[in-house]
Amino acid sequence: MKPNSQVGLRIFFAFTLTFGLSSCSRKSEPAPPPAAVVPLSQELTEPVLEILAKADAHDGTVDHVVEDCASCKLHMKGRAEYSATLRGYTLHLCTDRCRQTLANDPEKVLTSLDLE
Ligand SMILES: [Zn+2]
Repeated sequence: MKPNSQVGLRIFFAFTLTFGLSSCSRKSEPAPPPAAVVPLSQELTEPVLEILAKADAHDGTVDHVVEDCASCKLHMKGRAEYSATLRGYTLHLCTDRCRQTLANDPEKVLTSLDLE
């Protein structure tokens, strides 16, 4: 999605919230898409890649999918709709906020995980 269309969507929703509540017409406007996968392109150091591998194993399966929320130190179950991809791994985060935290500084989030 282009930035322009996102802004347009926001204006649309603001307009709908302000003026649209009184009309009950069921328009076929598409629902906002579920949070899409955020690709994280940051270069990671080798220790961080090891942490990623351990975080992958932490959920019980080594499948390059980290199913627990890294931003919550893997204490919360992540959700597929809040995914981020990082160096071949897919990380499930529990909320959009958690995903944003990870996106802002993946290295910091990953190095603060306490993995055995
Ligand atoms: Zn979380």
